[in-house]
Amino acid sequence: MSALGTLLARARNYKGLVAAAIVSNILLSILTVASVPLIVPFLQILFDQVPPVTDLPAQPSPTDHINYYMSRLIIDHGKQHALLTVCGSIIGVFFLKNVFRYLSLFFVAPLRNGILRDIRGDLYKQYMHLPLSFFADKKKGDLLSRLTVDIVEVERSILDAIEAVFKSPLVIIGCIGYMLWESPALTLFVFVLLIFVTVIIGGISRTLKKSSHKAQGLLGELNAIAEESLGGIRIIKGFGAEDYFTDKYRATNDQHRDTLTKLVWRRDLSGPLSEFLGIVTVTVLLWFGSKQVFAGDLAPATFFAFLFAFFQVIEPSKSFSKAYYNVQKGLAALDRVEDFVQTPNHIADSSGDQQASGLKQQISLRSVGFKYISDGQQVLDGIDLDINKGEVVALVGPSGAGKTTLADLIPRFYDVTAGAIKIDGIDIRTLSLDSLRSLFGIVSQDAILFNDTIRNNIDLGNNYSEQAIQRAVEIAHASDFVAALPQGYDTLVGDRGALLSGGQRQRLTIARAVAGDPPILILDEATSALDAESELMVQQALEQVMVGRTTIVIAHRLSTIRAADKIVVIDSGRVLEVGNHDDLVSAGGAYAKLVEMQSFS
Ligand code: ADP
Repeated sequence: MSALGTLLARARNYKGLVAAAIVSNILLSILTVASVPLIVPFLQILFDQVPPVTDLPAQPSPTDHINYYMSRLIIDHGKQHALLTVCGSIIGVFFLKNVFRYLSLFFVAPLRNGILRDIRGDLYKQYMHLPLSFFADKKKGDLLSRLTVDIVEVERSILDAIEAVFKSPLVIIGCIGYMLWESPALTLFVFVLLIFVTVIIGGISRTLKKSSHKAQGLLGELNAIAEESLGGIRIIKGFGAEDYFTDKYRATNDQHRDTLTKLVWRRDLSGPLSEFLGIVTVTVLLWFGSKQVFAGDLAPATFFAFLFAFFQVIEPSKSFSKAYYNVQKGLAALDRVEDFVQTPNHIADSSGDQQASGLKQQISLRSVGFKYISDGQQVLDGIDLDINKGEVVALVGPSGAGKTTLADLIPRFYDVTAGAIKIDGIDIRTLSLDSLRSLFGIVSQDAILFNDTIRNNIDLGNNYSEQAIQRAVEIAHASDFVAALPQGYDTLVGDRGALLSGGQRQRLTIARAVAGDPPILILDEATSALDAESELMVQQALEQVMVGRTTIVIAHRLSTIRAADKIVVIDSGRVLEVGNHDDLVSAGGAYAKLVEMQSFS
């Protein structure tokens, strides 16, 4: 579906608002057009030019009717009274016109903001549900800019366009209709003038767009440099690279200034230029029209009304042409956004609806192969492995061997590209994704906490009971420090858990992993970034949570590996050996060498 199509589809949820906006705009347009001839009798009275029409005209011509009623008013009540009546009706019509003008905006506001809310919400929801493979391919900044920059773009351009499309054409058609009816020759003349002016102004705004793109890009670059260097400020200081980065920033900064100045110069030109061209247009029109009045081809009051209609057309034509130029840009942004929203979610879409009910016997991998979509390298190949209920299985091997990838396949963060993974004989792809994931508790190497309370960080929206959370915190050896916090479980942990120590953060993520009492644990042995004391506590916590569960651990420490029931040695995506510590050491193979060199990654 084209971007415009999806936009219309989104507007379908707001049928009532769309209808109300259209009706208000129609009424607004009618009143705008109707306000034009109203000015005629006023001028006629002022210049003593009301033609004495004393009989009700037979033809339904508005001018004749107006003239008839004006004559009657003047004859019956005098000029003063007639003038007051005309002024009163002008005020009345303009009052109503502006009421509908406001109403049209009033109905469009919730419409455009509602559509924006929907796009943003769908995008975020999509981010939450898309498979991990998607995020490996896209940069985080890119995804964030969809949520911010692109949506602002859509807001600014497309939705302005909707407004213009609702309103402008009706007013333009009405006023031009009136102008044509009054004087086709003058209308044609106005058109030629307008086209001339539009071409000039349009040219400027097109070049403006190009340089604004460039300025935008440079600003993005500036932000990227700043973000990167602030993140690495410690290294920059440590290596005395302050000046190097300052220079790097300065170069782009200067370029941005130059582009922006050119842009602003050109933009500022458009105001003076359009005023001047405008006044030229009007003067030429005055000259041409007055000539017709002198020649007796046009009544003076009609000429005034014509001018008035002309002024009514200018504003909507401007917003219409502006909208036209903006729409291209906005549609491109909308396309990018909708592209994401409509990315098929192949993992969720290919899930069955069988409910997983715990782990009874074993997890089995059969001829499992895997390639990341991004580079197509065979990361895992022909893996056969059984993980029995209650076992602790340690994955060991050099860095880059495929251990993390293997562990990610079991909860279906990625789908195998060959072979199958089964839980109690059932292919995990036939299980519902929710029920499959609920079987796992996962502790990763970086302790990810969100800026929320301790309780919410453990619960993560699962609505566990208070006891379940407390029990989890206890097994994770975290109850002492949680109790010592000022608000206990309700303490906010700060941005990414900044208010806690590394060991405390890690113990909370362990509590989170076991709060739902999952039968299977996946541990990316999570102690590498900790000091010795925290490491010991986290290690104890891990040992405790492993009791009674099946555990897959990506092991870095010899003590964990030694205690495992099954050690799986992986290298270059293949299983080299499987066995317990003693067997493998006495076999004298790859594992024995790793132990000898103490080189576990
Ligand atoms: P280990 O956990 O044993 O260190 P990984 O499973 O992290 O190994 O990585 C295995 C291989 O897959 C490596 O060559 C790595 O570069 C590659 N790899 C890991 N993640 C991705 C990804 N998201 N996209 C492409 N290649 C990846």
